[in-house]
Amino acid sequence: MPKGLLIDTVRCTGCRGCQSACKQWNLLPGWGEAPSDEYDTSFSPTMTNPPQLNAYTYNHVEFYEIPKDNGEISWHFIHTRCLHCIDPACVSVCPVGALQKFDNGPVVWDQTRCFGCRYCQNACPFDMPKFQWEQAWPKIQKCTFCWNRLEEGMEPACAKTCPPNAIEFGERDELLARAHERIRNNPDKYYDYVYGEHEAGGTSIMYINAVAPEKLGLNTDVKKESYPDYTWEFLSKIPVEIAAIAALLGGTWYFRKKRLEGKASVTSGKEAK
Ligand code: SF4
Ligand code: SF4
Ligand code: SF4
Repeated sequence: MPKGLLIDTVRCTGCRGCQSACKQWNLLPGWGEAPSDEYDTSFSPTMTNPPQLNAYTYNHVEFYEIPKDNGEISWHFIHTRCLHCIDPACVSVCPVGALQKFDNGPVVWDQTRCFGCRYCQNACPFDMPKFQWEQAWPKIQKCTFCWNRLEEGMEPACAKTCPPNAIEFGERDELLARAHERIRNNPDKYYDYVYGEHEAGGTSIMYINAVAPEKLGLNTDVKKESYPDYTWEFLSKIPVEIAAIAALLGGTWYFRKKRLEGKASVTSGKEAK
């Protein structure tokens, strides 16, 4: 059964425990360790830290101040990350099959295959894959849904860490039913919408909030249908020259891999003797 995460931003206190746990589990650079100031710890005017989701921060806690009808200000906290679409556009456009959707939910990528064409970044309706701009051979990076923890029967690091249980891990269907029930039972606390139930054909990561999702930066212009249905429409807009370079690089990657595999089998053959 596909797994999911239900993110309840009404419960979130903005402690950034999920962001820190994510960095720790994924061995991502922490304070003063990121390759550029843009990715490092520095408060933005909106109190986010670092300023944006980036290739070294897979989970990014954001703060919102929203005026109430009575003129008071309400605080809201939300963390953004890859939503692990049920039918992901990023997987469908990758020319070298570097991205893959697992049956239990995660959309993962293979660093050794990615050659940095950024098709996935352009295809993603949620603008989630981030690029290592400062690297000589840049690769795409994003939340992994902690697939390696799931394989060991553990929940994702962010869900395990969250003190007020604002990130719940479980079967997607059960989480969806729980989300609707919570909204139904608390109409004064929740805005009546489960973000991710239908966006892009449905996502593994879903949100419930106190306010309309667009007020917390969630993209509500996303189509409700699965995006790979639009893949060919998207690919047809890519200039022929870029497509040719991607195909060339994809071919180069394939032959390089074959050559390395050939070398590896020769090496292991020598060792066996
Ligand atoms: S949110 Fe974007 S990067 Fe994540 S699975 Fe969906 S299409 Fe891929
Ligand atoms: S699921 Fe894992 S990789 Fe994704 S945000 Fe949570 S801790 Fe980070
Ligand atoms: S750990 Fe939980 S409460 Fe803290 S910022 Fe993340 S989602 Fe919010």
